[in-house]
Amino acid sequence: MEVRFKGIGVSPGIGIGEATVLEDKKPRLVYQFLLNDSEINKEVARFKKAIEEVKKEFKQLKKDLGHRAPFKEVKQILDTYMGILSDPMLFKATINRIKEEKINAEWALIRSLEEIEKIFSEIEDEYLKQRVQDVHYVVNRILAFLHKKTETNTQLSPGSIIIARDLSPAETIQLPSKLIAAFVTETGGRTSHTAIVAQALKLPAVVGVENISQKVKPGDLVIVDGLSGEVIIAPDPETLQLYKKRQEKYLRYCKEVEHYAYLPAQTLDGHKLKVMANVELFEEIPSVLERGAEGIGLFRTEFFYLQQKTLPDEELLYEYFSKVVKAISPYPVTFRTLDLGGDKFSSQLDFGKEVNPALGLRAIRFCLKQKDVFRTQLRAILRSSIHGKVRLLLPLISSFEEIIETKEFLETLKAELTREGYAFSSHIPIGVMIEVPSAVTLIDFMAQEADFLSIGTNDLIQYTLAIDRNNEHVAYLYEPLHPAVLKMIKQVVEVGHKAGIPVSVCGEMAGDPCYIPVLVGLGVDEMSLNAQNIPVVKKVLRSFNFKEAQMLAEKIVGMGTIQEIKEYYFNALKQWFKDILVISGRERIEVGYEREHQKDCLHE
Ligand code: PEP
Ligand code: MG
Repeated sequence: MEVRFKGIGVSPGIGIGEATVLEDKKPRLVYQFLLNDSEINKEVARFKKAIEEVKKEFKQLKKDLGHRAPFKEVKQILDTYMGILSDPMLFKATINRIKEEKINAEWALIRSLEEIEKIFSEIEDEYLKQRVQDVHYVVNRILAFLHKKTETNTQLSPGSIIIARDLSPAETIQLPSKLIAAFVTETGGRTSHTAIVAQALKLPAVVGVENISQKVKPGDLVIVDGLSGEVIIAPDPETLQLYKKRQEKYLRYCKEVEHYAYLPAQTLDGHKLKVMANVELFEEIPSVLERGAEGIGLFRTEFFYLQQKTLPDEELLYEYFSKVVKAISPYPVTFRTLDLGGDKFSSQLDFGKEVNPALGLRAIRFCLKQKDVFRTQLRAILRSSIHGKVRLLLPLISSFEEIIETKEFLETLKAELTREGYAFSSHIPIGVMIEVPSAVTLIDFMAQEADFLSIGTNDLIQYTLAIDRNNEHVAYLYEPLHPAVLKMIKQVVEVGHKAGIPVSVCGEMAGDPCYIPVLVGLGVDEMSLNAQNIPVVKKVLRSFNFKEAQMLAEKIVGMGTIQEIKEYYFNALKQWFKDILVISGRERIEVGYEREHQKDCLHE
């Protein structure tokens, strides 16, 4: 029986394929597979081998500790771990599950863990109750060995639909994207970094689908519509047919708008804008150029770190950044300095345990605290600047001092490089990301020290409206047309222009065609967005007058409620774009494909 779910569509396109469910037992994702009879014995042997490997590891650890007194307790813990490894509830029960339920070792092990957790949860003694942590640790070690021993990725058949409770940006970037048709998660919001990575990998994705990982079984046929947010399990033959048609239509639509990539980014009355691309991975660069980007307006450097097993050193970073600079040349690249923390964590760096990471040690705060990490990155970026045009962008600036401290640090590094005989460009513009309300309040000061400003609407909206961008429960509050957001953009643009510097927008707002008229009307000079959307953004840009957009922006920025603004704004747009826009259920204006899509819905 067909079952339908609704989530938040965050990366367009339609994926149709068999489900692979990822069990979310941090720190590792667990793939779930059903086995054929012929595979069972091999799977049991694989599990036993992993147990042996972990035992060996614990024994070695114990040996390494020698007879040193301070480690007596650690040795006792290791003995406990060995006991857990051989405990029938873990060892025997898992083997039985593999044999009887015909499921892979990882999945069977997690089932055993769940049983053990149940027993622990009934214990009253708090100390003993906490010992379940030891079982978790041991299970994670076994999973690590299972993971190492099998090329997990090769177990995915091409065209798989990944279903997971949660996928961090680091996990998403490590997915074997060539084998994946789409993914669905229970957590996340429209501007979460996981959504951003999905766009970079061109994978249709839907986030915020409650309980989906409990509802889908491995191997179920699933349809994922990354634009409407629809997820359909076990579709009826008619539904499947309909979505196959929509899939074709979407691909045809993408082809149709492709040629806008090569047309100038300007309004009907000739007002020019710079349209650049947001990039997370080097591999995206060829398609960025094909889509008509005039450079990279935001290079999220942290994703390279997330792809590495160890912390990259200066030479590796230099090589990587140089490759990027050369590939995008003669256009510029804007390297945003490391923005780790928040929802992006690298296993090689210690961020400590934070109750609220979005308000914690993130981005520039982390870099100014861990100067050695910052130093390595900045030196590599400076050195790469000899290969083309490089701009630097500082994320999450919340005080004037952070800019000053960073600029001083940069000067020290330049002097250091000169002493060591390294060359770098004498003109590297420094931009400040405006994504914290305090930066808007202090925009007069910020503008004095910056060569350009870049408004990160994802975070600006998160911090202004107090909505966690990764939390699906408050995703409905994400509102780029909130009067507070519009007023802030207006203020930043005005001050930027008074100071004679360009103002760009690089959050997801700039990649959504329906917000282009208001951003242009507010006077934004540059937009940096997911390259996939550049053609359609140009198409929209080329179909209205700058003067009219200015009047529209002026009008709505003076309004006090979201409802008033949206009514006025979308009504105006309906007049302008009769031929290409429609308003869907949530008053979201969708372009082109969605119009066709809506028509289909209406005809159903
Ligand atoms: C933003 O916050 O709008 C932005 C562009 O940066 P990121 O999405 O990487 O936080
Ligand atoms: Mg940001």
